[in-house]
Amino acid sequence: MLITHEGCLDHVAGRDHPERPDRLRAAWAGIEAVHLDTDLVRVAAEAAPLEAILKVHDQRHIDRLVDVDTQGGGRLDPDTRMTEHSWGAARLAAGAGLQGIAALQADEVDAVFCAVRPPGHHATPTTSMGFCLLNNVAVTAAALADQGERVMILDYDAHHGNGTQDVFYNDPRVLFISLHQSPLYPGTGPLHERGSGDAVGTTVNIPMPPGATGEHYRAAWDDVIAPVAEAFGPTWLLISAGFDGHRSDPITELGLSSADIADLTADALAIVPAGRRMVFLEGGYDLDAIASSTQSVMSALVGERVHLETPTSGGPGADAVQQARRVHVAD
Ligand SMILES: [Zn+2]
Repeated sequence: MLITHEGCLDHVAGRDHPERPDRLRAAWAGIEAVHLDTDLVRVAAEAAPLEAILKVHDQRHIDRLVDVDTQGGGRLDPDTRMTEHSWGAARLAAGAGLQGIAALQADEVDAVFCAVRPPGHHATPTTSMGFCLLNNVAVTAAALADQGERVMILDYDAHHGNGTQDVFYNDPRVLFISLHQSPLYPGTGPLHERGSGDAVGTTVNIPMPPGATGEHYRAAWDDVIAPVAEAFGPTWLLISAGFDGHRSDPITELGLSSADIADLTADALAIVPAGRRMVFLEGGYDLDAIASSTQSVMSALVGERVHLETPTSGGPGADAVQQARRVHVAD
């Protein structure tokens, strides 16, 4: 199932801003390229109800967004801006996953791709930042956790998902795993941040050096993520699929290809049964990379491992994976 909405095109983050409407069109093109035809169920996203958003964000945060919206838009942080259509787009983006839960629980579909923007993983309980207004994946994870599900969020966007980490840092029901380039915006996500209280061990940060390739992402999966996930025992998997880890991305320095993204996604999907898998578009700023990566991920969701490019190897990253293993995996 594809959940999306043309209203997500109407949010304009700024002139020449990398987080632009054409990103969503590129994702749509990637989905069409899978040629699922009538097997692809398309659903228009509906705005998230405020009570679902309030499970993740505090009332003051929502009041501020509504205030800026009432004024016709404005700047929230140096690189996050709202126009008169942004609040509507943000609520659609946050609502898509809730419809995904309903469709999956009704056995209407096997898996869901939420092609939405603005992205969400930098939005914290109290702040919009880093192009993100509401935390879309967190709204969905919180709804599932409140139903008694154990939720694994895999975030392979090149940037650390600081907002998602903050939402669930004290929450043992949600396992948050982030593979991200370090150093890079927003500068968070070191190895030693592992959750607090009875949630220690349910935040798993794997910082990777600039230039890291798929070989080391595959090792991170085998040596760190797979054992951690097995120990946690998730009943649902949500993927924060940012495609800015692709080597063509203009604002990051990782070395992945869409084939690496295909492999990582396919491995992750095997963690839970069909019917409990959802993917959210996060970042990614090269249009061709978004299209090829989306095609790869959508193919993985229907059980096909498609390599449109060659998997990458070599480069730095082996040390980072071994350090992460020592911190996150008990011997
Ligand atoms: Zn990103």
